[in-house]
Amino acid sequence: MKKFFALVLAILMVASLAACGGSTNDATADQAKVYTIVSDNAFAPFESYDSETGEYVGIDMDIMAAIAEDQGIEYNMMNVGFDPALAKVQAGQADAVIAGMTITDERKEIFDFSEGYFEDGQVMVVAKDSDIDSLDDLNGKVVATKNGTMGAEYANANKDEYGYTTKAFEGSNEQYQAIINGNCVACFEDYTVIGDAIKNGVELKTVGEKINPSFYGFAVKKGTNAELIEKFNAGLANIKANGKYDEILAKYGM
Ligand code: GLN
Repeated sequence: MKKFFALVLAILMVASLAACGGSTNDATADQAKVYTIVSDNAFAPFESYDSETGEYVGIDMDIMAAIAEDQGIEYNMMNVGFDPALAKVQAGQADAVIAGMTITDERKEIFDFSEGYFEDGQVMVVAKDSDIDSLDDLNGKVVATKNGTMGAEYANANKDEYGYTTKAFEGSNEQYQAIINGNCVACFEDYTVIGDAIKNGVELKTVGEKINPSFYGFAVKKGTNAELIEKFNAGLANIKANGKYDEILAKYGM
């Protein structure tokens, strides 16, 4: 009999909790939201697939995790590639993107960005044994581009003036491969990213100076998820203040 009353009591307690849950206001509904965040899939040291663990690792992955922990953000990360990530956010199929994405005025017309969290620019990349060392040497040649990137924008903006054509690829590795194969002679890649690839044995070299140094930002579709940008900014400030941000960069050799 005692057990029976304990059970009734337990049921009543669960029922009253459920009733409280039923009266949720919008603020608590927001807290329960699980955001979908998208990223690139081959952009080390910011995001890359670790075949040993089957997980995506990198500065962006760690910064997102640290900020989410700090701010109580729940999310699923989908590493879909750079251009697909931007498209998914624009289509409302994902809430935000963190993908070594450069903050630009043009992108601000369709995205809202967080504060910048890392500064980088692009640089010209050629084969290790190439004689090419400036835009002037690209006349009549083919330059590899990665869809949707600043590097692609730079390559396309200069092609008429310097007399070369471009060939588009989906990811960073594909454009490196095209240069190594000799199908293309150059590409414009983010400085830190090509530096990491070369350090890890990719047979390419950089030539010339860093182009358009600017900050990377976390982004949402313009006019949506304002609370997520606020939380990202608050979390970023906190992980910068408590040393976690520096720890993450140090982990990836920065
Ligand atoms: N920073 C570059 C851009 O925003 C490249 C990003 C990337 O390839 N993931 O276009």
